[in-house]
Amino acid sequence: MLEALFGIGSLIISTIARVFRDTVKAIVLEAVREIIQPRPGTAAASPRHMADVTSADHQIEDLERKLSRDGCLSTRDAETLDELRRRRDAAASAYRKARAGEVAAEAGGSDYVSPILDPRHANVLQYHTGTLVLEKRCPACGCPMALQHRTVPDPELGDFFWACTAFYDGRKCKPIPFRPADVQMIHKAGIPEMEVDRHDIAIIGRQPVVQESVRRRVAEHVGEPDDHVLCPMHHRPMVLRQKKEHDGTVLDMYHLRCVHDGCSQMMKLKTLPQLAAYLRRSEGTGIV
Ligand SMILES: [Zn+2]
Ligand SMILES: [Zn+2]
Repeated sequence: MLEALFGIGSLIISTIARVFRDTVKAIVLEAVREIIQPRPGTAAASPRHMADVTSADHQIEDLERKLSRDGCLSTRDAETLDELRRRRDAAASAYRKARAGEVAAEAGGSDYVSPILDPRHANVLQYHTGTLVLEKRCPACGCPMALQHRTVPDPELGDFFWACTAFYDGRKCKPIPFRPADVQMIHKAGIPEMEVDRHDIAIIGRQPVVQESVRRRVAEHVGEPDDHVLCPMHHRPMVLRQKKEHDGTVLDMYHLRCVHDGCSQMMKLKTLPQLAAYLRRSEGTGIV
């Protein structure tokens, strides 16, 4: 049920509204129970699961290199590769669940809101662009589908769509139009980049002084992994990179990229709310 969660204290559930309330209630109650009666080994499980993902993926890369060098693998190596992929995917699933529990535990003790998606607040979607994954897989190839929008300065709800993540492997699957009913989310109250309307955030974002400050702050993190944004194929945290060629504006400079050998999965940071989300994840403070 839980498809993704991103940002500090932000929990997103892509499901239908009818299921949503019961699900969140169940998660929060479970988390609160754990806070009241902590059991050994239940706290902060996500780093352990992420270490399992990374370790399995390193071994997978070794075998993939061997395959590409020799042209084939022994039966034993081929079986090991299958087993490692299963292990990595299971660890990634455990990681997402553990993170959901950690965020829900926070939700048990703080003020959370469920934003309403309307045309004035498309910035809520901009905040989560690239990180929100549809529960349904791509009908053409079965890969995850991530939220994207047309490259326009101030995207409206109608500019958003679900894009197949196999795009970065060269597949051209048909996108699915976004409908506000596709997602329900809760996030910590007091994230101004989601609470102001999209015109206000666009005006703020056009100020040169804001752009320069964001550019400087984001630049400090180049080369760092973002544990909240995993490659949809390899489940490794994506790493912040600066583009070699850009148009000189902060909205064209940075992206997150998978570190798995040869993987070209990428998440462009191309709107101010997206950069705000990145900074809030990395430093605990956004830009408004
Ligand atoms: Zn596809
Ligand atoms: Zn990858």
